[in-house]
Amino acid sequence: MKFSHSLAAFTVLWIGSIQLFGSEGFSNKRNAMIEEQIVARGISEGRTVDAMRSVKRHLFVPKVQTRHAYEDRPLTIGYGQTISQPYIVAYMTDLLKPKPGQTVLEIGTGSGYQAAVMAEIVSEVYTVEVIPELAKTATERLKEQGYENVHVKSGDGYFGWAEHAPFDSINVTAAATSIPPPLKEQLREGGKMIIPIGPRLGVQHLVMITRKGDNFKTSRLIPVRFVPFTRSKQ
Ligand code: SAH
Repeated sequence: MKFSHSLAAFTVLWIGSIQLFGSEGFSNKRNAMIEEQIVARGISEGRTVDAMRSVKRHLFVPKVQTRHAYEDRPLTIGYGQTISQPYIVAYMTDLLKPKPGQTVLEIGTGSGYQAAVMAEIVSEVYTVEVIPELAKTATERLKEQGYENVHVKSGDGYFGWAEHAPFDSINVTAAATSIPPPLKEQLREGGKMIIPIGPRLGVQHLVMITRKGDNFKTSRLIPVRFVPFTRSKQ
């Protein structure tokens, strides 16, 4: 009797410490990711770094990928899609300079991770995903984690989300061959959009577009590799 009691107590302690080490392990890995992949590469803006430190990336990947969540690369999330490399998420966030009080649009919800990073900073995030299953999983995941300011829509992001426009910034996380005109129209005066542009299989570049009245200033940034922007067949 005594023995089984102490065995039970030991088991409880043991399981408890696994859980403790488990979550501590993830926060250590997340801190290492911030230092080695983000800050060491020149991103030091407080809001971006704080947001990346807050979002639990390991909860945005499929279970089999959990232990790889903080590695320096994109990971598969099913349906032929990926969650972007942490550095790319930080780079795009940093360039858009999100601020408290803003309303932003994301095209390509995927896992919901990048939307959560934005949601740590701005007031409202609207995000559109063309694959209904991914939109559903991301919606549930974001809700579970308490991100009430992220709104996910299943549909073709080519058309943006006109009901909630204009947006202070728009980030597109799938590579298009040209800039969808509805997205330009939904950008606020002075607002910024980042979009990967290029062929499906060739070199793509991140492009930054800044709206000045009816003019759009365009500049080409770094070469990247994103999954293709696909049009909905419905
Ligand atoms: N931001 C995501 C990255 C997802 S990868 C994350 O943090 O996980 C890009 C996503 O864009 C994929 O899920 C893909 O299905 C989606 N996508 C591709 N074309 C789209 C379109 N026309 N409209 C909306 N989403 C699109």
